[in-house]
Amino acid sequence: MLIDSHTHTKYSKHASGQVEELVRSAINKGVNVLTITDHAPYPIDRNNRLLLSELDEYYKEVKRCAEKFKKDINVLVGLEVDYHRNYINFIKDIISRYDFDYILGAIHYVYINGERINTWDIEKLGVKGYFSTYISNIEEMTGCGLFDAIAHPDTLLSGDIQPKMFEKEILNIFKEIKNNCISYELNCSAHRKNYYNGESKNVQLGHSRYPSLPLIGKLNDLGVSFTIGSDSHTPEDVSSGIRDVAAECKKIGIDEVVYYKNRKSIRVKINNLLY
Ligand SMILES: [Zn+2]
Ligand SMILES: [Zn+2]
Repeated sequence: MLIDSHTHTKYSKHASGQVEELVRSAINKGVNVLTITDHAPYPIDRNNRLLLSELDEYYKEVKRCAEKFKKDINVLVGLEVDYHRNYINFIKDIISRYDFDYILGAIHYVYINGERINTWDIEKLGVKGYFSTYISNIEEMTGCGLFDAIAHPDTLLSGDIQPKMFEKEILNIFKEIKNNCISYELNCSAHRKNYYNGESKNVQLGHSRYPSLPLIGKLNDLGVSFTIGSDSHTPEDVSSGIRDVAAECKKIGIDEVVYYKNRKSIRVKINNLLY
């Protein structure tokens, strides 16, 4: 069995592939449950995401493909939604417009002294103020009740950030969460991404400081549930890295992951993802 709960199509603009191409590729790779999570409209960035005017077409196209390929694969419709308190009404409006299966919250933008730093600007993630602002945004997002899971909280470890410091802050946030109401994503894209080494000031390809396994083990002890996704941006990359990350997580005692349908979590034994 294979599930992939984080994938993108051409609707995200910096990703490629039609919805139908992604679904066909997923079927070829043996994916049983595919959730498409293109970036939701967001007021501060129009270049990396759906526009409001495209949301209807996106939803209907995913639903059309879900119906067309339902004998071969379970296709679910989601969104990866950026969070900032200034836009909370905008976000509520977007996610209430359609019957989404899955709403994945993310922090991709942090403003420091008026400058927007994106999570993919890995050379800049070590600047003063970035870490504390990112963490407080994650904390608010985790507690706001709008999201099923948090996308790649640990991708900032691609920058010059101390993993121990990050681990401590995230554990503090999740200790406060009651009833296991939001999941933490095991994002499997690290092997395709760069890492910025703050000491040597070098960018290195294919690093894997996320998902942060020591942190995930401790979150598991707290009873936190996990989603898993490739974060693919091309049809070819769908499901990429999932089996490897699932195997690593099994070694540290993770027993199951979840995916979401109609905004409700469904459990899958991690053993089922290994072959
Ligand atoms: Zn993301
Ligand atoms: Zn994504």
